[in-house]
Amino acid sequence: MGDYINVVEMFGCDVFSDSVMMERLPKKVYKELKKTIEEGKELTMEIADVVAHEMKEWAIEKGATHYSHWFQPLTGVTAEKHDAFITAPMDDGRVLMSFSGKELIKGEPDASSFPSGGLRATFEARGYTTWDCTSPAFVRHDAAGGTLCIPTAFCSYTGEALDQKTPLLRSMQAVNTQALRLIRLFGNTTSKKVTPSVGAEQEYFLIDKEKWLQRKDLIYTGRTLFGAMPPKGQEMDDHYLGTIRQRVSAYMKEVNEECWKLGVSAKTQHNEVAPAQHELAPIYAPVNIAADHNQIMMRILKKVASRHGMRCLLHEKPFAGLNGSGKHNNWSLTTDDGINLLEPGQTPHENIQFLLVLTCILKAVDEHADLLRESAADVGNDHRLGGNEAPPAVISVFLGEQLEDVLEQLISTGMATHSKKEVVLETGVKTLPDFMKDATDRNRTSPFAFTGNKFEFRMVGSRDSISSCNVTLNTIAAEVFKEACDRLEAAPDFDLAVHDLIKEYATEHQRIVFNGNGYDPEWEKEAKRRGLPILPSMVDAIPALTTDKAVKLFETFGVFTKAELESRAEIQYEIYAKAINIEAKTMIDMATKQIIPAVIRYTTVLADSINAVKAVGPMDVSVQTDLLSKASELLKAANSAMSSLKELVKQIPGFPEGRERAVFCREEIVPAMEALRRPVDELEMIVDKEMWPMPSYGDMIFEV
Ligand code: ADP
Ligand code: MG
Repeated sequence: MGDYINVVEMFGCDVFSDSVMMERLPKKVYKELKKTIEEGKELTMEIADVVAHEMKEWAIEKGATHYSHWFQPLTGVTAEKHDAFITAPMDDGRVLMSFSGKELIKGEPDASSFPSGGLRATFEARGYTTWDCTSPAFVRHDAAGGTLCIPTAFCSYTGEALDQKTPLLRSMQAVNTQALRLIRLFGNTTSKKVTPSVGAEQEYFLIDKEKWLQRKDLIYTGRTLFGAMPPKGQEMDDHYLGTIRQRVSAYMKEVNEECWKLGVSAKTQHNEVAPAQHELAPIYAPVNIAADHNQIMMRILKKVASRHGMRCLLHEKPFAGLNGSGKHNNWSLTTDDGINLLEPGQTPHENIQFLLVLTCILKAVDEHADLLRESAADVGNDHRLGGNEAPPAVISVFLGEQLEDVLEQLISTGMATHSKKEVVLETGVKTLPDFMKDATDRNRTSPFAFTGNKFEFRMVGSRDSISSCNVTLNTIAAEVFKEACDRLEAAPDFDLAVHDLIKEYATEHQRIVFNGNGYDPEWEKEAKRRGLPILPSMVDAIPALTTDKAVKLFETFGVFTKAELESRAEIQYEIYAKAINIEAKTMIDMATKQIIPAVIRYTTVLADSINAVKAVGPMDVSVQTDLLSKASELLKAANSAMSSLKELVKQIPGFPEGRERAVFCREEIVPAMEALRRPVDELEMIVDKEMWPMPSYGDMIFEV
């Protein structure tokens, strides 16, 4: 058989999936559980006990010895606490393997050191995890053996969300309720549920592990804090979609297999724009599952890299001057019977519904652009957003020329009568032609692009959870749908009211539509004229979480309370300040212990050479002298920049104001770090490569 792999058999083999449940659970129990999953009903302890028992038996067959409530605290990564299945030894010294319904549905991790932004201090110290039975359990195999992982939400005793999943599930409910109302208005009586579907494309870098080990900045911060550009960067664009190197191919093969075993539908892989940069995309899934799968995928990317003597870098900007990494969050709304609300329709009726949904989303994005920007805010993403590659830090919507034209006609005449492709188009009379897909301009510079039957939000950072942006997307969509439904349900003439509403939304929120080049500096000026929020850094974006507008939005739909929002803002500030603090200290450490000593050695070699050459006779030592004086000058500059940085780090304000600390880091520490980097990077260009204490950019990105 050789290397033959049976993907169909492999797929989901380590997942306690629907088919496994159907096979193993008593019919009645299976039905009850399905009902719980589909209708969001409460699970009884009786049912939970049976499910837990079968789950345990299945997991043990798969080699599991432990179970773990697997959750996503606000640190951006996943957390878990492992418990063995064993019971206390019996009199004869033997143990049994047990797992109860209670253990399945509720856990109490000793998780008091996860960030809670003061929530737990105000309420109650304990945090609880509860099973999200809509995301299947799975057995993960690694050095620790087999672990049954149970996807869970993490809340405080009084129900405040301490994680990413809880608000995501709440927001799914919110958008479900309002979207159902909307489709009912258009005569849909059969769909039972509307679910946000998400496919998250994941970008990452791969570098050699030996080189990684020689870079303290990569080890401690995930990105290079120093590093001069190699003679060749990405300017040739010869990496993008290029042939995948063998070592990387072997890696990708294993990543795919590990993903498939856990039911993650890894589908598309290719090289990205920067050398050593790659991408992996799964097939879209309900958003809570997509979020879990993205976490699983990130973990697999890292784990498999280590097996292949490489490191997977998920940081948003591992290398200055090269493209950063993001996560493209493809979002749509799908009914349980397979209708995509963002798909242009087959009938005039459906087309009107499509245009209403589309203009609702324009309105939602325009009114909450600040929140959407915040939802993608991450320390590393500050280097990416607004850099000359990733989406800019200003939110706008790309619709494509033709769809924008349809809207413009609606605005000016209230009626779209033709499309740019000269296909007859009269909403209400004929159907929207299937032009959107063909015409989808690949505008890679737009942060929020309509791509035929979904929106692609491109701002999310590569390392970040996709939960936050989807909580925002779901909730802002729910808000506008609610408003639209309130008005339409009360309207005496529905058809007229819909037309008016589409026209009104398109007119009032046209400013958010931008089809041009998002990297053009002119765009920022234009955005300013249009009054769109420009929030260049994470620290600028965080306040969006706690505006009256945001509190009203999230409280209306029970997604976040004001206290939860305030705690999240506080956590964000803390995360920012901590990360910058670590970066600054790492720079100081590297400069003090590695770079400055290396430069001193180099200048000594130069000085010795000058003396030695002169001793032979009256010879020209101008090259050595020039180099020596240049190196000495830069050394002095580096040393003084380092002293300033050290001084500033000491001044970082202490407790209690998170915001104050974050602002100080952003305004004082970050520029001081840049000031230290400049002379060091110049030194790297002149110092003998043999003497430079760490691998260069060229070494890392071209030699994987
Ligand atoms: P791209 O050209 O951006 O790579 P793809 O069609 O390959 O576009 O899609 C990228 C991602 O979008 C994949 O994860 C895919 O599963 C997902 N996707 C496709 N259709 C939808 C949809 N209707 N809703 C949400 N995600 C979708
Ligand atoms: Mg894409």
